[in-house]
Amino acid sequence: MSVKDKVVVITGASSGIGEASATLLAQNGAKVVLGARREERLKQISDAIIEKGGQAAYRVTDVRNPDDLKALVSLAKNKFGQIDVIFNNAGVMPNSPMSALKTDDWNLMIDINLKGVLNGIAAVMPDFVAQKHGQIITTSSVAGIKNFTGAGVYGATKYAVRNVMEVIRMESAEEGTNIRTSTLYPGAINTELLQSITDKATLAGADSLYEKVGISPDAVARVVNFAIDQPEDVNVSEFTVWPTKQA
Ligand code: NDP
Repeated sequence: MSVKDKVVVITGASSGIGEASATLLAQNGAKVVLGARREERLKQISDAIIEKGGQAAYRVTDVRNPDDLKALVSLAKNKFGQIDVIFNNAGVMPNSPMSALKTDDWNLMIDINLKGVLNGIAAVMPDFVAQKHGQIITTSSVAGIKNFTGAGVYGATKYAVRNVMEVIRMESAEEGTNIRTSTLYPGAINTELLQSITDKATLAGADSLYEKVGISPDAVARVVNFAIDQPEDVNVSEFTVWPTKQA
């Protein structure tokens, strides 16, 4: 089974990497189910996919709420009859130096980037275990494999999901549940992500880096497509996607 006809739930689908992935996967015949908080954006993206002959559905989803994730997965099953893949992609990056003590931003990142991913995993796990088939893809970051100043807590959430994903891979192999896992480590990708930065100096630094080296979210979408497209006995568990110009 390739990308075609797979039912793929995508969080953070209202812009950036999630939008690009939904669009590409739908072009390749997947049935995509989009979740995020901005309904108007979800509707536009879903309408555009359907207009081009693809299949899509959407539901307003806050990944901090476990019931929202369960409802999104239920929508996938009710509308398209099955659930094959969840792409845990929603995230925010309000970076700042630790000494700035932006504790509200710390908690927001833990709630969305870490607990939000766990909520997505919990929403699909019962079906994936029962059907002995399923794929979990999660967007970590290069900040989940190396340290960046300003990204203390962001990096912590991205290191954490890396651990969770690898342990799911190992446990699934031991338990014989055939759950495939892919963790993505993108570098600077030109999306709306920097809009969540509240610290002025951090924002200026990020803006200047992204302007110099940032690449299109389509680069990550192609990797997501590749991971889903592999045969069932192949689990490509990690991808790092650097812009060629980023050191
Ligand atoms: P965008 O800001 O364009 O997309 C983020 C998405 O997450 C939006 O669709 C947003 O939708 C959604 N989102 C944020 N909070 C929530 C929430 N509480 N519930 C549901 N959805 C939410 O940025 P990217 O596409 O870049 O980000 C996607 C992922 O990629 C993130 O996890 C990010 O950390 C990661 N990443 C990005 C990199 C980059 O350079 N851009 C590099 C490495 C990793 P809405 O506001 O409508 O809810």
